[in-house]
Amino acid sequence: MTMILKTDPQRPDPEVLRTAAEILRGGGIVAFPTETVYGLAAVVFNEAAVKKIFFAKMRPPDNPLIVHISDISMLDEVAVNVPKKAYNLMETFWPGPLTLILPKHHNVPKTVTGGLDTVAVRMPAHPVAMMLINEVGVPIAAPSANLAGRPSPTTAAHVIRDLYGRIDAIIDAGETIYGVESTVVNILAEPPLLLRPGAYTVEDLERVLGEKITIPEFARGYIEAEDALAPGMKYKHYSPETPIILIDPSSGDVKKMVDVVRDTALSYINEGYRVCIVATFENVDEYSSISRNAVVLGLGSRKNAFEIAKNLFKILRSIDDLNCDIAIIEGVQEKGLGLTVMNRLRKASKTIIKA
Ligand code: AMP
Ligand code: MG
Repeated sequence: MTMILKTDPQRPDPEVLRTAAEILRGGGIVAFPTETVYGLAAVVFNEAAVKKIFFAKMRPPDNPLIVHISDISMLDEVAVNVPKKAYNLMETFWPGPLTLILPKHHNVPKTVTGGLDTVAVRMPAHPVAMMLINEVGVPIAAPSANLAGRPSPTTAAHVIRDLYGRIDAIIDAGETIYGVESTVVNILAEPPLLLRPGAYTVEDLERVLGEKITIPEFARGYIEAEDALAPGMKYKHYSPETPIILIDPSSGDVKKMVDVVRDTALSYINEGYRVCIVATFENVDEYSSISRNAVVLGLGSRKNAFEIAKNLFKILRSIDDLNCDIAIIEGVQEKGLGLTVMNRLRKASKTIIKA
């Protein structure tokens, strides 16, 4: 049985927090909202509980979890030899969607880190997440609260769909804020290395760091990339069941991309397929009259990457409810949050066509 605990996101119900914390301290696993996506928590030092997370999600054991803290004093319980650069970033960006790779404290079980000697740590900026960790009193390990390979959950309904009956409780506090996961940086690398683009842009982090962050090919979402050796990066992700074709506007020519989307859609429609097109608001009208065998979904405005990022997983999940044989998705320009959006879209896609 999975308990559903409802609360206001801004003023978390103390009774809900107490119940969830009690389950966690007793070795259970609980889904909870963060400002990025919903997470699935276990007490980080309880190896049996952490194993329940991997089992519930069907997550490969070598894909490490992020450790969440609610107070800077908890950092020393999970990491050692924290470099000065890391503190600089924490001062500006914590609490918030930045995850830093640090040397692991020996008390953190290797189950949490997928066998690595490093640990990924962040401090979430969501009242429910913060107060839940405070109430538990120790750091929690938490990946996204979805079945492995599925789009990350941005509402409790998404968590229920994937994990109901597999976990002890779900705290429902409505929709998350960013809708994409945290930015993961290996701050031990020289220069720092982006492992996953996320809700904070690389440009913002670089401004505070005062140096460039290396962006490897796998961070752009190419899972077949030669350097895709960072844990978790080799796995396919974020996928609806409907196969996705991503039209990548690599030339920067949006008109050309629209033509390729339309041609690709028509070639499938002519073969008798029912096609779903996911388009930015500016281009929706370009496709709406193609055929009655095409459904067009709006992703957000090309001028508002925040909106696109926020809608992304919700739209990816909704594709499966539309009974389409194939979905064709417009890509976006790869800067700022666009890097994050393209990372998720590349990983979600079966085929990528450059336009
Ligand atoms: P999730 O919590 O599902 O968003 O996934 C967390 C991601 O953080 C993993 O897929 C890894 O890519 C990354 N990560 C966590 N721990 C480490 C680590 N010690 N070294 C490198 N990457 C990590
Ligand atoms: Mg995940």
